[in-house]
Amino acid sequence: MPTATMKALRKMRPERGAQLEAVSIPRIGPNEVLVRVRAASICGTDLHIYAWDPWSASRVKPPLTFGHEFCGTVERVGEEVTGVAPGDFVSAEMHVNCGRCHQCRVGQPHVCQNLKIIGIDQDGCFAELVRIPAANIWKVDPAIPEHYAAILDPLGNAVHTVLSGEIAGQTVAVTGCGPIGLMAIAVAKACGCSTVFATEVNPHRRALALQMGADEALNPAETDVVARVRAATGGTGVDVLLEMSGHPAAIHQGFQMLRAGGRASLLGVSSQPVEFDLVADIIFKGATVKGIYGRKMFETWVQMTALLKAGKLKLEPLFSERLALDRFADAFSLLQGGQAEKILFYPNGSPR
Ligand SMILES: [Zn+2]
Ligand SMILES: [Zn+2]
Repeated sequence: MPTATMKALRKMRPERGAQLEAVSIPRIGPNEVLVRVRAASICGTDLHIYAWDPWSASRVKPPLTFGHEFCGTVERVGEEVTGVAPGDFVSAEMHVNCGRCHQCRVGQPHVCQNLKIIGIDQDGCFAELVRIPAANIWKVDPAIPEHYAAILDPLGNAVHTVLSGEIAGQTVAVTGCGPIGLMAIAVAKACGCSTVFATEVNPHRRALALQMGADEALNPAETDVVARVRAATGGTGVDVLLEMSGHPAAIHQGFQMLRAGGRASLLGVSSQPVEFDLVADIIFKGATVKGIYGRKMFETWVQMTALLKAGKLKLEPLFSERLALDRFADAFSLLQGGQAEKILFYPNGSPR
């Protein structure tokens, strides 16, 4: 019998680009689930893998099917899987933890010592079908629309960042308005923060920041954003900094905007070590600093589902193109040009 194949977008060689390939349909183990991908979303990480930057070169081992943000329908389940059945509409936590290390045992699996990421360390979701451990499957509430279900991974990053400290009634600065920064604005507003100051150099993204609920969208290339935020907060500074850019200048501005005793949650990843005024920005400020990685398993997923079900998050401005998988080159060039935020792929045909 010939082996059944499927279409997959693969990084075949350690160089820029990707290729659409016919590959064998993944075989699942007794505790795994095969999901037919309905919609997959492109992450900034996928842009790095496509461009083959130094981070990708050090981490990714071609050949690899990439992609880690998706939703789909369960096609088949392993013989030991319970609670998930063919036909279920699902997404998945793509960070796979080991279940045995110290952090896993003390309830912090999101910082597992042996974390593997589907779509980076093993074949991901830019394909007709994807193989997922049953424990990582997240059944999507039917009230959540399909295109929202495709971006639960980055939305979870935003929810984890915003809810890693108090938020209700607080003033907030969001430095960097890429997709997750934009989502964080909506989440902070939905959770009852008072005012959001967003900083971003890209004018398209500043416009989106306002659509997502920011009270002010400031351009740090033109405005003294620290002076502006301090003035708007009576000279005090904001209660909460959500650092989403990873850019050294934005990080410095963010900490200068943060009030003494405030909370900084840092999600943006810088490509180089960042110099830091530890004394002025953290110690003498009595600041609380949180590093944010991934999503809490599965507290973040529960919070995110509750917010979405309650209709608290309006994410429409984030979505632009919806493309078949073979249009991948167009998708990556649109994203690289900063002309789109979230592009969805439909590996099994066009959007409903
Ligand atoms: Zn991602
Ligand atoms: Zn572990």
